Amino acid sequence: MSQSNSGAGQLPRGHFFLPGPTEVHPDVLQAQTRPMISHRGAGINAIMKELQEGLEVVFCTERPVFIGTNSATGFMEAGVRNAARTKVLSLVNGAFSKRFADIAKSCGFEVDTIEVEWGEAHDPDQLADKLSKGTYDCVTMAHSETSTSVLNDVKSLAAAAAPFEDTLVLVDSVSGFAGAELRPDEWGIDWLLTGSQKAFALPPGLAFGVPSEQLLQRAASAPQRGYYFDLAKFAAAHEKMQSPSTPALSVIFALQVQLKRMIAEGNEARWARHTAMAERTWAWVEEHADAGLSLMAPEGYRSPCVTAITVADGESGPKIVKGMAEKGWVIGGGYGKTKPSAFRIGHMGDHTMDELEELLSDLSEVVK
Ligand SMILES: *Cc1c(COP(=O)(O)O)cnc(C)c1O
Repeated sequence: MSQSNSGAGQLPRGHFFLPGPTEVHPDVLQAQTRPMISHRGAGINAIMKELQEGLEVVFCTERPVFIGTNSATGFMEAGVRNAARTKVLSLVNGAFSKRFADIAKSCGFEVDTIEVEWGEAHDPDQLADKLSKGTYDCVTMAHSETSTSVLNDVKSLAAAAAPFEDTLVLVDSVSGFAGAELRPDEWGIDWLLTGSQKAFALPPGLAFGVPSEQLLQRAASAPQRGYYFDLAKFAAAHEKMQSPSTPALSVIFALQVQLKRMIAEGNEARWARHTAMAERTWAWVEEHADAGLSLMAPEGYRSPCVTAITVADGESGPKIVKGMAEKGWVIGGGYGKTKPSAFRIGHMGDHTMDELEELLSDLSEVVK
């Protein structure tokens, strides 16, 4: 088990608690062994139609749900390329929300940021104030900031941006979707993006994006939309129940199975299961305050999918991750600048409370 931190050794089921990729159910893995089909024609059309119906349920939307054969970062880039003409505002409170700003800069846009400390959430009033003082084509933000496990209140942030009609709201919910409540249509989110390998509990390889009508109108003439991430092309392909280019068919087959499993569980039950696992983890951390452990995210702004735990000595994060690997568990290290001083548990996807209890019991031994 010494190599198991990277997952190089085969772990028993229920032991892989990385904050992405996450553990994939055997039935979902198995679906990927289906032989290839043509990505054009009646076969794929029927599958895409079935998927669209299921995706509308899990995304709480009546809009199209685009499927991209790229990791989630690609759909972050798709968002800014199609929404922005010149100027972007980025809310930055950790590594992934910073990535959104970096993507916008690298695409040639002028980027202003509202930056708060890692471990803090964004304030809707501050956003409204900033928007009233400048003109922005779009605002970018992370829902569940996986590096710190802070959950931004994207409903209130989107509401704060709503009066600024030309400013589109782009939300990265890569580690939030399918674990945290999210209602893009109702909440006024213009581009909601996620990936397949976090709380969706699929293998990596697909990204999902839910565009508003306003974003699609903007996309049609967006100067930097490029080719691969041109959302007007996605919309045209979607009309025909196709994808603009060859999709990752094996992951599409896995998605067919996973959507059925998710719909059988139900959105509300899935969110509640994630909340219960998160609350159990927070309580465990509080029980281990004597061992120098504390939660990185403040109360009221904690992700139900991932928990970042700070160690008081500022350096034993990696030792704890290693100690868990020796017991046959994969958990996440601190991300970026918090690598030495933190570790993270990805209690998302299809994990159960029983599995989490087992993990926390071994973790109590390791942190002693
Ligand atoms: C994992 C993650 C990403 C990056 O996803 P990729 O699929 O690796 O491109 C972006 N944002 C957040 C919040 C994430 O958790």
